[in-house]
Amino acid sequence: MSKSLQAIRGMNDILPEQTPAWRYLESTFARLMDGYGYKEIRLPILEFTELFARGIGEGTDVVDKEMYTFADRNGESLTLRPEGTAGCVRAVLEHGLTGGGQVQKLWYTGPMFRYEKPQKGRYRQFHQIGVEVFNLPGPDIDAELIVLTWRLWQKLGIADAVTLQLNSLGSSEARATYRDALVAYLQERFEQLDEDSQRRLTTNPLRILDSKNAQTQAVLAEAPTLADYLDDESRAHFEGLKARLDAVGIAYTLNPKLVRGLDYYGRTVFEWVTDKLGAQGTVCAGGRYDGLISQFGGKPTPGVGFAMGVERLVLLLETLDRIPAELGRPMDVYLCMFGEEADVAGLALAEKLRDALPALRLAVNAGAGSFKSQFKKADKSGALFALILGENELSQQRIGLKSLRSDDEQELVAWDELTTRLQERLSQQIPADRERE
Ligand code: ATP
Ligand code: MG
Repeated sequence: MSKSLQAIRGMNDILPEQTPAWRYLESTFARLMDGYGYKEIRLPILEFTELFARGIGEGTDVVDKEMYTFADRNGESLTLRPEGTAGCVRAVLEHGLTGGGQVQKLWYTGPMFRYEKPQKGRYRQFHQIGVEVFNLPGPDIDAELIVLTWRLWQKLGIADAVTLQLNSLGSSEARATYRDALVAYLQERFEQLDEDSQRRLTTNPLRILDSKNAQTQAVLAEAPTLADYLDDESRAHFEGLKARLDAVGIAYTLNPKLVRGLDYYGRTVFEWVTDKLGAQGTVCAGGRYDGLISQFGGKPTPGVGFAMGVERLVLLLETLDRIPAELGRPMDVYLCMFGEEADVAGLALAEKLRDALPALRLAVNAGAGSFKSQFKKADKSGALFALILGENELSQQRIGLKSLRSDDEQELVAWDELTTRLQERLSQQIPADRERE
């Protein structure tokens, strides 16, 4: 196939055999959010480039190297969103949703775009489910965000495969003091650092803590740690968070190297990590960003949130074989029709059935075909019953009803009794564990 007819590298089609797992994850999450009182927000995929430059920050990989930026026909610089927080903050400010200290608990889901090196668990179009909470400054809400992700892992059956890493970044003053100490320490060992880290020493030194380079990590082993520089208020906030996690019984690992390289992040940062997916092990990352909204010119407003990677979670569900077998429930009934007149009458009959039985999964044969070929399609659809409408049945205003899963004789049912009879037959046939919506 010519290149222009292929998908762009790192941008995946999610094929019909995969979508049930996606819907399972998304609907499990949506129900969870309903249960905690969070509201969904839907945001544009394109924003002005400026929003991300300011909201994510120059000096980050995302802004410097990974954005899909282009000029529209009017010459405006636009960017495909690389993450959801900046757009969400823009939206709440634009619509005054955080004015007067109003609390907002919001969630969203959708595609994000980053020009990265595609590999397992890392793509150029990927999907996040994100949560953002505004105007709650305390550790109680940080704890709730972690608790609800923990509950999600339990609902999905992956709780044993993920661990929680936790850190506090302190106040911006505490971080500034720490940054100076770290830079001084690393400056003396400049030659031992990898190239990226050498560059970051001037642009974004805290990000060096995050380096995957083994030699750099060795240098960092003896470096001053952020924990020693925490201010009293941040320390109390962190203790409040840990006390709540302890009370619920959520285990965590303190990881002093866990950072977000941006000044508007402070205090709580956390990641849920798995060792089941190789290098791309972070399935959910979040933190407190009390400084972000004022960066956009809004009144100082506490904010905290997280984003999880949908592809990585689906991969984890697949790897652990936790995708419920009954997903993608098959059809209940397949309507076979023979001859043009039956085809016409059958469609009308099918719609009457749908009126009477809204939950019915009814596939109507299209494309005519022989008895054999229609029955083959009926079987493949997974339907429990076939309905058979030919010339004879039509002239008697009746329809054949035949089980596709047993040797029961076909019965002939009058049209006006079809709903009742079908309901009876279906309730006998459907196994108890097959969920009916
Ligand atoms: P990483 O260190 O893996 O690059 P990140 O710090 O860039 O992650 P965030 O911006 O915090 O990631 O995004 C939150 C989550 O979104 C990540 O933990 C991950 O699960 C997912 N994610 C981020 N980038 C990608 C990507 N390119 N492909 C698939 N999932 C991604
Ligand atoms: Mg990244």
